[in-house]
Amino acid sequence: MRAVRMTSPGVLEQVEVPTPTAGSGEVLLAVGAVGACHSDLHVLDAPPGLFPTPITLGHEIAGTVETVGAGVTGWSAGDRAAVYGIIGCGTCRACLRGRENQCRRVPPGGIGLSRDGGLAEYVAVPASRLLHVGDLDLIQAAPLTDAGLTPYHAIELARPALRPGTTCVVIGIGGLGHLAVQILVATTAVHIIAVDTSVAALDLATRMGAHHVVRADPEAVDRIREIVGPAPDGADVVIDCVGVDPTLTTARSVVATGGQLLLVGLGGGTLPVRPVADEPPTMPLETNVVIPFWGTRAELQELIALGRLGLVTADVQTFPLERAPEAYDLLRRGEIHGRAVIVP
Ligand SMILES: [Zn+2]
Ligand SMILES: [Zn+2]
Repeated sequence: MRAVRMTSPGVLEQVEVPTPTAGSGEVLLAVGAVGACHSDLHVLDAPPGLFPTPITLGHEIAGTVETVGAGVTGWSAGDRAAVYGIIGCGTCRACLRGRENQCRRVPPGGIGLSRDGGLAEYVAVPASRLLHVGDLDLIQAAPLTDAGLTPYHAIELARPALRPGTTCVVIGIGGLGHLAVQILVATTAVHIIAVDTSVAALDLATRMGAHHVVRADPEAVDRIREIVGPAPDGADVVIDCVGVDPTLTTARSVVATGGQLLLVGLGGGTLPVRPVADEPPTMPLETNVVIPFWGTRAELQELIALGRLGLVTADVQTFPLERAPEAYDLLRRGEIHGRAVIVP
């Protein structure tokens, strides 16, 4: 079969590999769609040895069951599924509570990160990782498994603070951010302020239901402050889907006293924290800072339900498998709007 693999550190190319078979407890999935994630760029850019090579990338997968391995029940050929990409140990304190994204024994990784993923015609995955998607378009289902699940999980963590009438700032309206806006619209009654450097991304945020849009320029903090009011008031929740120094500075400059910062984007920036009350504070008193990671299977099931109801719809640009390397180049240059989805 054809697969797009990281054949050596930093090198992504299409190659021919043997079609995998479903081992015990596994399902062989014919890949219908796979999302291109910024994390894949981090994998490509990582120092040699950090990730296995060669490896088939792609951790946002939806497909159709081709064959089932020994011992698999509840799945049969033709079933349509989304793949939950994390494989926790299943036995630690976090996994037993369903929080495999916090597994205390298995380092962060998963399908397409620490074992072969979905940038291929077929992928073998543990049957326990599959969730039914019903009649949801696979091109829609794939981005939900990470670009949707990650902000869904972050919003779940902040849900007690997202009271009706509160304000949530979403920074970075890309693959994750444009879904974050829709999840907020679908599940809360908060005012949404979308922030991005790109006018096209801000237009997308408006179409997805953001109430205010702010261009990420040197005056961005002032313009957000005009909406949320001066300190100690501010945004109740800030979701930073970028995570570089300028966005982290914006985030901590507009969050309210007692507010919450959700650092979703892994852009490599640094957030200074100095626990003092006097000026200038690094961030307001009583602020919560969370670094969410991916999400849980239960949350993915809920998000798929939102997708099937038509309440969350990914804005996608599709590419055939052989153009996957080009899709990642466009992603790296910031030229993808919404999510790039590879259709093998
Ligand atoms: Zn990802
Ligand atoms: Zn575990």
